[in-house]
Amino acid sequence: MQRGKDLSDFPIQYIKGVGPQRVKLLSRLGINTVKDALYYLPYRYEDRSNLKKISDLRYSSVETITGKVISAEIIRLPRKNLKIFELTVNDGSGLLKGKWFNQPFMKKNFKVGQEVILCGTVKRNPYWGIGFEMDNPEYEILNNTVETPGKSQFRQSGDDSLIHTNRVVPVYKATSGLSVRQIRSIMFNLIHFHIEDVTDPIPAEIWKRNGLPALSESLSGVHFPDTNADIEALNRGVSDFHRRLSFDELFMLELGLALIKKGKVIEKGTAFKPDGILLKKLIEILPFSLTKSQEKVFNEILGDLKRPHPMNRLIQGDVGCGKTVVALMAMAVVAECGYQSAFMVPTELLAEQHYFNIHSTVEALGLKICLLTGSTNTLRVTRDALRSKIASGEIDIIVGTHALIQEGVIFKNLGLVVIDEQHRFGVMQRALLRKKGLNPDVLVMTATPIPRTLALTVYGDLDYSVIDELPPDRRPVQTLLFSSKHKDTIYRLIKEEIKKGRQVYVVYPIIEESEKTDLRSAIMGKNAFEKYFSDFRVGLIHGRIKAEEREKIMASFKHREIDLLVCTTVIEVGVDVPNATLMLIIHAERFGLSQLHQLRGRVGRSSHLSSCLLISYEPYGEDARRRLDIMVRSNDGFMIAEEDLNIRGPGEFFGTRQSGIPDLRIANIIRDASLLSLARKEAFSLIDKDPYLKSSPLLRKALETFWKGKIELFKTG
Ligand code: ADP
Ligand code: MG
Repeated sequence: MQRGKDLSDFPIQYIKGVGPQRVKLLSRLGINTVKDALYYLPYRYEDRSNLKKISDLRYSSVETITGKVISAEIIRLPRKNLKIFELTVNDGSGLLKGKWFNQPFMKKNFKVGQEVILCGTVKRNPYWGIGFEMDNPEYEILNNTVETPGKSQFRQSGDDSLIHTNRVVPVYKATSGLSVRQIRSIMFNLIHFHIEDVTDPIPAEIWKRNGLPALSESLSGVHFPDTNADIEALNRGVSDFHRRLSFDELFMLELGLALIKKGKVIEKGTAFKPDGILLKKLIEILPFSLTKSQEKVFNEILGDLKRPHPMNRLIQGDVGCGKTVVALMAMAVVAECGYQSAFMVPTELLAEQHYFNIHSTVEALGLKICLLTGSTNTLRVTRDALRSKIASGEIDIIVGTHALIQEGVIFKNLGLVVIDEQHRFGVMQRALLRKKGLNPDVLVMTATPIPRTLALTVYGDLDYSVIDELPPDRRPVQTLLFSSKHKDTIYRLIKEEIKKGRQVYVVYPIIEESEKTDLRSAIMGKNAFEKYFSDFRVGLIHGRIKAEEREKIMASFKHREIDLLVCTTVIEVGVDVPNATLMLIIHAERFGLSQLHQLRGRVGRSSHLSSCLLISYEPYGEDARRRLDIMVRSNDGFMIAEEDLNIRGPGEFFGTRQSGIPDLRIANIIRDASLLSLARKEAFSLIDKDPYLKSSPLLRKALETFWKGKIELFKTG
């Protein structure tokens, strides 16, 4: 292979030990080029430099042993409907059994007389209480290797005893037809013969300044660490080698974000010059005074609006902190200057709600507002009529779903886009706006508070404000966990609340029962509650009810014509009925943590004390128990979001695909939060100095590859 060749263009079949058959198998693992292979990291490491004798094993610890197979058979337990494959291994000091449950096909992998390695948790035999066993151990077949004890060396390639034993060995995800052992051999050759060909796109001063090792050293260390490596750090993915590779990935991510952000700063936008009269009037009409936090954040927004570049700001704030009014103030400023605003939310129900909540205030200011959703036709006004009013500039504020922008609505002069309750309105969607030639100021609001460093990734291209205080009259919602046995208590609590003149939500996980699950459903619940509380007015709302009908139902709830509203998660975000003070969540074990917090945010929106009753049905798993426990303990959205992130992991949490951020394959933004800050600092300062990366063509190329298809970089460079 030529020196300095780009390894991402270098097909894997040129590597020693890789023929056409293996090319196919490797491609199943996503490995097509030498570079893919180098970045196919072990998911686990095993210390085989110092294998234990079976007779020296300790119960309950994870151990690795090696020995000869003396029997391999399937045991049937017909009464339990079980087939167990049992492998018995002897290492001269004792016997150990590996057991695989209902995987009879395992038998064909083993033969008596083979040398094997097994790794797993050591257990006693459950009946005898003695002996050594492992359930579903990781295994490897050592063909005819002769064990040569001694120091591991990294010189002679192809010598099995140096690759697969007597060292800390990497364990890779394998695929049928290609064993861990074969992959390890391929990797060994790859590292041994080609590591010198790796070119490092990242300027040396950057990784050196952050105390990280060189790239080739890191790649070789991450696959074949030497014997004295810290195996625990390797297994957690935080060895120096891992840190270097994670840093690279985060650095590429932040470079892209820095470019997007920088691009926006240079872009021309509207510098609004309000005289402040409308704003003053609005503040006068409001039935409350703003919190300090709302004022601070609004002033940041106002600063952005006055600047001649497009605003791109994210407002984070827990449910109920009062984001809507801040958005309304921004829209008033923009309207005063003669521009239009689009207020976009994730669902039609929410669009209707918002329209509903703000239209009288907006109209009192002398402004025109309209609701434009998929079902607008049914609201007595035709879509076409509205569209032409929007195009002529007659309407100042348009409320709708996120589809507003995609649907090709023509605006006279769109000055501001507010995106509410959507942490998934990603880089891509924002880029789409600009592609349409619109360059409005953009305000994104989210009630899923996330820790600052993480916000800097997902929203790394945005400025960032936090409303970190609730209106002063709020009292924390008290949250109680019940099992289904406590029906009487629950019914009594509902009755008391409604008698006080308050209203109640009852949330179900599904609309209608089905044969597939035995979950309780909203329709079922509505009937039951109607029967039980015959003198209360019970309503029902869910996603299959037509928008027009839903709007009527929400309106009656708001006007206190319904006492108890049975619903699904359609009410999850944004719905605002301050007189509702009790929420019952049925099958609470079924909901995600952020979702539960959002739902709970529908109560506690006034000075009345509110409660949230979580009703759970056994059996449920450990994660569900943790979620319920956190909900009972905490009302703090930041803390809850962090726990949610811990339970679910970042990919799930952010819905990475929708956010438009390239997938992270090595780094983990929770585990590597401090690396992320370093990478961000370096990336932003580099882009400041050298916006087109003219001084590092290699880096520029690597960056384009990393963000490929995601975002147009260097448009003007
Ligand atoms: P969120 O931030 O969850 O979107 P909203 O904007 O829906 O919250 O506000 C929640 C409720 O609090 C609304 O009824 C709103 O009118 C009210 N509210 C907003 N700001 C204040 C304030 N400063 N004082 C009292 N109530 C407020
Ligand atoms: Mg809101």
